[in-house]
Amino acid sequence: MAETIESGKVCGACGTMNDVEARSCTNCGARLEDAQESPESAHFVDDDPALRYVDPNNRVEVERFERLDEAELACGLLRSNGIACELSSMVLPGLPGEVILWTHARDAEMAWALLADAEREASTKKDDDAA
Ligand SMILES: [Zn+2]
Repeated sequence: MAETIESGKVCGACGTMNDVEARSCTNCGARLEDAQESPESAHFVDDDPALRYVDPNNRVEVERFERLDEAELACGLLRSNGIACELSSMVLPGLPGEVILWTHARDAEMAWALLADAEREASTKKDDDAA
């Protein structure tokens, strides 16, 4: 049942493909780790995968963010409340732009309420910033 498609160990230092059994890189001699995870799949491993997917045909744009970290913060808040959300990935790291946060249409009202609560909490902590 456990089929592996790995054909070898990729050296983290130089990128050379080595034998699966190899302990060190044949090219540069660096120690080879057993972990075969790609950097992408190593992120957000604590998240439920079901909370990271939103059906494109049944989603609602909840909010737009100028910063990816703000968007991820909001997304994390929703996920910790059991609401699935997805971020648009059109923004390149370090470049200005807008990140769109989507949830399922049925979750949108709850998402807005949660984000409004979080904003209210944040704004009461710095009330000298009255608009
Ligand atoms: Zn190497």
